[in-house]
Amino acid sequence: MTMEFTLSGRYGALGLGGCYAPETLMQPLLELEAAFVAAMGDPGFLRELKEELRTFVGRPTALTSAPRLARELGLHALYLKREDLAHTGAHKINNALGQALLARRMGKREVIAETGAGQHGVACAAACARLGLSCTVYMGEVDMARQAPNVARMRLFGAEVVPVMAGQRTLKEAVNEALRTWAGRCDRAHYILGSALGPHPFPLIVRSFQSVIGEEARSQVLEACGELPEVVVACAGGGSNGLGLMVPFREDKVRLVAVEAGGHGPATGEHAARVGGGRVGVLHGCKSLLLQDEHGWTAGTASISAGLDYPSLGPELAALCLEGRVEALRASDAEALEGARRLCRAEGILPALESSHGLAVLGRLGARTVLAGLSGRGDKDLSTYQAALGA
Ligand SMILES: *Cc1c(COP(=O)(O)O)cnc(C)c1O
Repeated sequence: MTMEFTLSGRYGALGLGGCYAPETLMQPLLELEAAFVAAMGDPGFLRELKEELRTFVGRPTALTSAPRLARELGLHALYLKREDLAHTGAHKINNALGQALLARRMGKREVIAETGAGQHGVACAAACARLGLSCTVYMGEVDMARQAPNVARMRLFGAEVVPVMAGQRTLKEAVNEALRTWAGRCDRAHYILGSALGPHPFPLIVRSFQSVIGEEARSQVLEACGELPEVVVACAGGGSNGLGLMVPFREDKVRLVAVEAGGHGPATGEHAARVGGGRVGVLHGCKSLLLQDEHGWTAGTASISAGLDYPSLGPELAALCLEGRVEALRASDAEALEGARRLCRAEGILPALESSHGLAVLGRLGARTVLAGLSGRGDKDLSTYQAALGA
């Protein structure tokens, strides 16, 4: 085995991404890249992935026209790509399943994962049960308390959920713990990272498995209206649903818009808007736009949606924003809630709080036809919606 990656893993003029990992993780990351490249060139692997996506995940997910909401927002046409209809309720399963298949192909019988809101943990637990792999999920103790139903779902699927007590006891600490555990067990375990983040090759692997979203949506929208939309919009936490939806439109004459969490204010610590608010820095093995305080420490973040509440943006999406190919907007907590309320009333669809950030900007795009990614369903956010909207 050579000690060099085949692919660059760098994005944009600033060379974002890369592999800032401890020595103990270099060998497993090199092996992972080699296994991924081999799998993506193996028709047998691709056939099995496609079949599992069809029969287990429920792909292709629907493209839904939303005429009543479009009229309310002054749009000519609005289409929703319905990842909320995928098994386990969000796009996370596309990546979890792809990486679980990759783990099995590599002869690894154990899976390690981290989760914040619990959606990635649930997706991993489901994929591992399906493929007969053991699954251990690291989760901050604070997140375990606020996402109790997802903890119960993971346990029903046979996963072990390990509370992380360090620091703020949320996602950032859970990632640290998962990476540390993987370093000690990498001979038998694979680490399934949940967004287009982390050291190379993870950002590439995750966005490759998520690209199915945009590949389907592009042909579905062409079939539905005979032309491409003017704008494609998605919310951006780490960037996996956004890249998955937008990358297949990259060469088209289509505006691409990523919406970050504006939280409850513009000051450091009150939001998770990394484009504009962040500076280049390294977190969890990759260089990207990172929210930092004046001393360069990773800053605190705030968002009503746990899935967008992360201080760094995935390096590929960050590079696309910096070069202007993707426009970055932000939606506040209040705007996201309003976006959700509108979709519920107009179309009978309850979106995840994360997805609601994308919906929140539809009226300010100045466009006629829009394709919006609905990354997940809102059942997990019911108590927040009830408290905020008085349902
Ligand atoms: C995790 C999650 C997100 C944010 O993650 P990305 O990697 O940016 O896609 C968005 N929506 C839902 C429903 C999620 O579960």
